[in-house]
Amino acid sequence: MREKIHPNYEQTTIVCACGNVIDTGSTKKDIKVEICSKCHPFFTGVQRFVDAGGRVDRFKKKYGMQ
Ligand SMILES: [Zn+2]
Repeated sequence: MREKIHPNYEQTTIVCACGNVIDTGSTKKDIKVEICSKCHPFFTGVQRFVDAGGRVDRFKKKYGMQ
């Protein structure tokens, strides 16, 4: 029944630039993306973001910027 609601919705793969392949369903085929949940900084570099923020704050203090 659901197939009739979404007639073009079918199994496909999303291929990321990092090499990760995600099986999903979509109306598009062979989707390519540059970032995914495996290589997105939100998932892989949260700690780095925190450190970078600290460095920016120190830089601003050093040069008197607020
Ligand atoms: Zn990726």
